[in-house]
Amino acid sequence: KRPPRPHRDFIRTRASAAHNPQIRVMQWNILAQALGEGKDGFVRCPMEALNWAERKYLILEEILTYRPDIVCLQEVDHYYDTFQPVMSSLGYQSSFCPKPCSPCLDVCGNNGPDGCALFFSRERFHLLHIHHLRLSAMSLKTNQVAVVATLQCQVTGRVFCVAVTHLKARSGWETFRGAQGANLLQQLKAILSTQQEEAVPLFVCGDFNAEPGEEVYRRFMNSPLCLDSAYRTLSTDGTTEPSYTTWKIRPSGESCSTLDYVWYSRNGFSVDAVLSMPSEEQIGPDRLPSYHYPSDHLSLVCDFSFIQEPHRLM
Ligand code: NDP
Ligand code: CA
Repeated sequence: KRPPRPHRDFIRTRASAAHNPQIRVMQWNILAQALGEGKDGFVRCPMEALNWAERKYLILEEILTYRPDIVCLQEVDHYYDTFQPVMSSLGYQSSFCPKPCSPCLDVCGNNGPDGCALFFSRERFHLLHIHHLRLSAMSLKTNQVAVVATLQCQVTGRVFCVAVTHLKARSGWETFRGAQGANLLQQLKAILSTQQEEAVPLFVCGDFNAEPGEEVYRRFMNSPLCLDSAYRTLSTDGTTEPSYTTWKIRPSGESCSTLDYVWYSRNGFSVDAVLSMPSEEQIGPDRLPSYHYPSDHLSLVCDFSFIQEPHRLM
């Protein structure tokens, strides 16, 4: 029998105005089924814990526990047969962009390429535009993609963009990730500039495969799009990322690192609450994935509200 999932509390970061409806955003690399079973080498995770017939319910349970308005997923290799139909029946509209040469395709018995998927509440938002981006690095096309949606809030009428991406993995690729990040920022800037309204705020959720010390992190922090990373608000000084968003053991050793981020426009949104990270004890000695948690990456969940513009307060 599987032990219960780790309990996580929402930490309020700000007393929010009751009249301002919140937007709950989830960022999560769910671990591609083909990679988890075929390539990753999670030596402390029993193979039975990765069995798709059961693991899919743990992924869906995690999403349904928090019921986000927007769900940004990476390593989705069961979109058409699982997430699209199930999430649709739960009230989410969605879009999926596969990686051009997904490593899943190398795995025997794979279920197709993995990619990025974006889900949003059909009741809450109206879709204005959708873009599937292929990221470049030094003018060359890469194997990494992004999905960008322009949404209109049905309650307030406010328009914003949300992007989901998964940058190139592994050490030695820091400069490459920096270039991919620069290209993503450039493509996002171009999309934002085509909007009818001026100053459309933005969320960028992703597995950046980069620690906060990397070039791509600095590029996002210092970009002219005025982005900030939501999970910094969890720290006592307000400027430090969590100690880990992924924690796993491979034959090469243990890897505990902060690679996943929820970026938001500083001028458009405020962070009202952030889902705390499970403790080392909750994660357990065999780390992730495990019988009680289905991915090697933890989900990030944040509540935002629109910053009221003076003329909209009337
Ligand atoms: P990445 O290097 O970005 O990584 C792909 C996946 O591997 C990620 O999901 C990543 O997870 C995971 N990963 C990271 N570190 C390790 C590790 N140490 N051991 C095992 N898995 C790890 O992939 P690319 O998009 O650049 O694709 C490269 C891969 O694609 C190669 O493995 C190659 O074999 C394959 N390929 C397939 C082609 C095809 O047609 N099928 C063509 C060309 C390449 P996370 O992000 O969570 O760290
Ligand atoms: Ca992975």
